[in-house]
Amino acid sequence: MGAQDSLEIQKLFLSNLISQKPYFKQELPSYSEIYNLDGKRISHSLNLVETTKNPLQHSENIAITQALERTKSKYLENCILLSTLEPCTMCMGSILKARIAKVIYFLQNDKGDGISYSPIEWIYQLNHFPILEYVENKEIFSDWKTFFMDKR
Ligand SMILES: [Zn+2]
Repeated sequence: MGAQDSLEIQKLFLSNLISQKPYFKQELPSYSEIYNLDGKRISHSLNLVETTKNPLQHSENIAITQALERTKSKYLENCILLSTLEPCTMCMGSILKARIAKVIYFLQNDKGDGISYSPIEWIYQLNHFPILEYVENKEIFSDWKTFFMDKR
């Protein structure tokens, strides 16, 4: 997957994200999509923690489970996961187990509970650590801020 494809997928993701915004009222504004090498979307999900009262139902975890079901494969080695927020350490576990090739996110986790906080020594020992790409996005940052201001 070249740099140009990655940009195309980012554009698709950001435009799909707009249609998901009405659902951001209850759940954290976390949204994930998984694409294959051909740039085809395989799965997408919002967070469903509040809806299902299950703290494991992060958008990344749900999108990974759906992508595995839909591709009927054990791994997602040629897949790219995009998420509004940097995946947490729980979702990082799922990303590693599913062998996702690349993760693109648009807002950094500033609490230390994020995939980019993995120690470098540990990353080198793993065979399937994904390429991480952080792309700053002011609109996603502002969705996040609005969500927490409305909750107060
Ligand atoms: Zn997570």
